[in-house]
Amino acid sequence: MVHDSFRSPAQTPRSAHPVPYRGVVTMPHPRNLPLAGLHVLVVEDDPAIGAQLVKGLALVGCKPRQVGTGAAALEDGDAGLVLLDLGLPDMDGVDVCVALRRRSAVPVIVVTARGAEPARVAALDAGADDYIVKPFGFDELTARMRAVLRRAGGTDTVEWGRLRIDAAARRVRVDGAVVELTGKEFDILACLAIDPGRVVSREEIFDRAWDEHWYSPRKVLDVHMAALRRKLGDPALIETVYGRGFRLATPETP
Ligand code: CA
Repeated sequence: MVHDSFRSPAQTPRSAHPVPYRGVVTMPHPRNLPLAGLHVLVVEDDPAIGAQLVKGLALVGCKPRQVGTGAAALEDGDAGLVLLDLGLPDMDGVDVCVALRRRSAVPVIVVTARGAEPARVAALDAGADDYIVKPFGFDELTARMRAVLRRAGGTDTVEWGRLRIDAAARRVRVDGAVVELTGKEFDILACLAIDPGRVVSREEIFDRAWDEHWYSPRKVLDVHMAALRRKLGDPALIETVYGRGFRLATPETP
């Protein structure tokens, strides 16, 4: 399962992180943060409904983006939540949901006029997290979004390829074997694991893993990173993305 980017650091103003990080990285997933700053992908081919959703979402502080086809939805890898219409011109929304699920754990709420039970069951079986039938109130939609985000943030364990990172126990396993890390090494790894596969900038790692008042020469991160990679036993598990930062390498699909 490949997570797509939650949001790129460049698009994330500091104010979008209302939870201060003080030295220790805590997972819940950043999706658990309130809706402010959340990148929402609106997959809706009806321009009027799409525009209305985009406008409403922007008013509650989200960063919405609308696409009108399933193909465009699958090209977009940067959403923190997807609102998915089922009746799309190029493919069925249920199939879009299945394809999204294959590569991402991004929360999906199906938003559709198909209210009959078989349609709801098909969408939920395809991996949708929730379902809302048009017409609906905007307050109900945002409440459902928050509920879905809370559930998405409810896990403390990230499994990513050979890595298993348990935030509650602060334990890391590679291929099932526990790897002993220092606190700082764990925090750096946890930063990358909050949204595996997304490039995390040096600045973001400093923001999250170091106390905000703690000045550290940039090189300190390289030292910890080198030790972390050595202890994980395979330097390729963490990729350096030149000029941008680091990310957990995408696991090879068997
Ligand atoms: Ca439609």
